[in-house]
Amino acid sequence: GRPVCECNNCYSGPDCSQFRPNCSADATSGDPLFLQPYWRRHAEGSAVVISGWHRMSYDADGRPYMTLELERHIRLLHKLVGNAAAEGKQIVFGAGSTQLLNAALHALAPDNSSSPSSVVATVPYYPAYQTQTEYWRSKVFEWKGATAEWLNSTEASTKDFIEFVTSPNNPDGRWQAPALAGSAVIHDRAYYWPHYSAIKSPADDDLMLFTLSKITGHAGSRFGWALIKDVKVYNKILQYIDTDTLGISRETQLRALKVLKQTISQIKKSEDMFRFGYSQIRNRWIKLNAIVSSSDRFSLQKLSPEYCNYFRTTRDPSPAYAWVKCERKADEDCSSAIRAGGIIPRAGTLYGADSRYVRLSLIRSQDDFDQLLTRMKALTAQ
Ligand code: PMP
Repeated sequence: GRPVCECNNCYSGPDCSQFRPNCSADATSGDPLFLQPYWRRHAEGSAVVISGWHRMSYDADGRPYMTLELERHIRLLHKLVGNAAAEGKQIVFGAGSTQLLNAALHALAPDNSSSPSSVVATVPYYPAYQTQTEYWRSKVFEWKGATAEWLNSTEASTKDFIEFVTSPNNPDGRWQAPALAGSAVIHDRAYYWPHYSAIKSPADDDLMLFTLSKITGHAGSRFGWALIKDVKVYNKILQYIDTDTLGISRETQLRALKVLKQTISQIKKSEDMFRFGYSQIRNRWIKLNAIVSSSDRFSLQKLSPEYCNYFRTTRDPSPAYAWVKCERKADEDCSSAIRAGGIIPRAGTLYGADSRYVRLSLIRSQDDFDQLLTRMKALTAQ
């Protein structure tokens, strides 16, 4: 049996065995439980035991809070996967990359400017860029919406702009590039890993964010990191983390180290986590495509095969999310149409997009995905 806290939306009872027939399939958050079967297989090798005396200090290895061993393994991981040039860059740990999004804005916004920097992202964008920026109502930056709105404006050349650029993008898996000349850029690389994307070359941008959540699936550990080229930006991000939380839980760092060590030890071997992850999502993407293409009610984003340096072959798409368009006039409110069919989606409007779009998560548990398929089959048959 499974602990009750792990029952998905359609099961209940002490061992999650009672099916709730009228339940909706949960396709909302990007909770990366698709990797849980991998860690069940490697339960022993990934277990962490922490004695009472261990890692009690504010400091780690005589430094403010980041253990050297973990930093070393992060650099090694990037090198082995080939997704980022970590050499010569500074690293700062964060409580997930969620904490680092805001730290990065503080670091890039000039604090001696007479007006706040304008924060923008290309539609469809990850909603936290907007919700966080608006929530803190900072004096040094403010949310200014879609990048496209500012492309040919005079403001774009006279004001400070900060762009969030997400490659591959959440929600549609497409490759993004900065669009405004001279803008400061936060490159969110949460999905630039072999389970979701072809690894084309080591990304070498000034400021890049990564999260353990989307690499090993340990979203609950709340661990991410920034790779930073410029020392001034590094110091400001470090200052933010010091001011906010005095660093990242040392227990979290031990767990991150353990699961990354396991990941690294199997790279390109028989128990490669990335290969496992890729095959899971690839399989889900094929199944969903087959159902969606059986009718004209919905369509999915089009993605192409690409050569992947990690797998050393051309690789078919395996996006973390389906970016679904409702094609019929009656389904203008796509979110409601999908909900009526017993699926809980994320509305496209949250991503700055049209209400004809919704996002469905493909990286949740197998139960969530199976229920999603059943419901989609019924919806397309209507
Ligand atoms: N950036 C993107 C694009 C994401 O999709 C997510 C998670 N959904 C995050 C950042 C934040 O992840 P976390 O806080 O778990 O590290």
